[in-house]
Amino acid sequence: MTSQPEKVTRKGRLTPAKARRESKPKKAQRTEEILQRLKEEYPEACCALEHRSPLQLLVATILSAQCTDKRVNMVTPALFERFPDAASFAAADMVELEEIIRSTGFYRNKAKSLQGLGQALQSDHEGEVPATMKELSSLPGVGRKTANVVLGNAFGIDEGVVVDTHVGRLSNRLGLTGESNPVKIESDLMALVPQDDWTIWAHLLIFHGRQVCKARKPACADCVLLDLCPAAEI
Ligand code: SF4
Repeated sequence: MTSQPEKVTRKGRLTPAKARRESKPKKAQRTEEILQRLKEEYPEACCALEHRSPLQLLVATILSAQCTDKRVNMVTPALFERFPDAASFAAADMVELEEIIRSTGFYRNKAKSLQGLGQALQSDHEGEVPATMKELSSLPGVGRKTANVVLGNAFGIDEGVVVDTHVGRLSNRLGLTGESNPVKIESDLMALVPQDDWTIWAHLLIFHGRQVCKARKPACADCVLLDLCPAAEI
């Protein structure tokens, strides 16, 4: 952990009302400061889903719906050994596929998506994962969030901002959005965060959300963003 910011008094703190009145340039400046502090705090921040190819990341991201990354990482080594490419997912025996991914939850739907994904990649993309938002989000089981994960982490393309439960919660607490719809949150963040940092932004907020700014009990006293956060409990 890096050093804590200077002691924040109730009088000097950024309140929710002040954050609502904040001008766009001021908010963008505060966002930049948040970004820099989190980069310093979590230099190791990266995609937690283990993968060696765009296809593996795409499959792992589909499996991560309603499931922890840790659990997905326990399942994928055997899965990728048995199903190494799009063709093998396309021709998968459903019972076998379901059994391998069962512990990730919603395994019937996920198995259907993975088989459909393999078939679509085979028929429309010569077995390769496409690198555009339009093509990715038209694949079975792939929405904008999954496409953003793959574009940002497998192809190095900052096309959008991944908004998961941590990113949504922290962006609201930090007063960078007042929205609950992920698409609207993403749009607010895209207007504030520099584009080159869209992918790392999500990783940083996820790391901070898991370690400090937890859903039920945020550890504000230990938070490097204390003086920048209108939701700080001090
Ligand atoms: S831990 Fe507290 S101060 Fe830090 S970002 Fe979360 S709500 Fe704000």
